[in-house]
Amino acid sequence: MVVVVDNYSVEPENKFKTGKIAGFDFGLKTFLTCSNGTQIESPQFFKQSLNAIRKASKSHSRKLKGSANRERARKNLVRKHEDISHARRDWFWKLAHDLTNKFDVLCFETLNLKGMQRLWGRKISDLAFAEFLKILEWVAKKKGKQVVYVDRWYPSSKTCSHCGHVLESLDLSVREWCCPSCHQVNGRDENAAKNIQTVGASTVRLGDVRQVIPAVAV
Ligand SMILES: [Zn+2]
Repeated sequence: MVVVVDNYSVEPENKFKTGKIAGFDFGLKTFLTCSNGTQIESPQFFKQSLNAIRKASKSHSRKLKGSANRERARKNLVRKHEDISHARRDWFWKLAHDLTNKFDVLCFETLNLKGMQRLWGRKISDLAFAEFLKILEWVAKKKGKQVVYVDRWYPSSKTCSHCGHVLESLDLSVREWCCPSCHQVNGRDENAAKNIQTVGASTVRLGDVRQVIPAVAV
């Protein structure tokens, strides 16, 4: 016990403040579902800015090549792209701060960006999960919080978070399912987030063990 406290006093960044851990599931309509049931919707302005880009892009392609009008339209299109990426990054920073204030350990599934792109088309890059995670990792490091990744081959959606029963298959369109073993009704995203939290928590416990060892050696 004393050893652990010593360790913390040397490395204050290892000291967790809220004592809370959460798992998160990324989605398209809902940006993040938290294991505590909270849902974080994708902001509406993402969609609105996309429409603005589409309009600016159309206007640009209609202008005569080499004309001053086309150059003006090109600059306008670039500006629109910058606007949306700024707004998105701003929202990501705020969300990252908010989540790291609420939780000490944040668990996510490793992203398979290529696979998701094939599955869902361009939407996935619009939401830019990877960009968000990069920001979150940076903020977490600064605040001494931990971002933990769970292997994406772990069946987080198909496993019942209540009893551990694993379904053989679960169609992407199924938003809610009743567990055949324990009859618990599982909301798809929340159930996945809970499983991600459970697996993430087991990883962190291993991490704590490793942290104590060097302190003992000192
Ligand atoms: Zn069950």
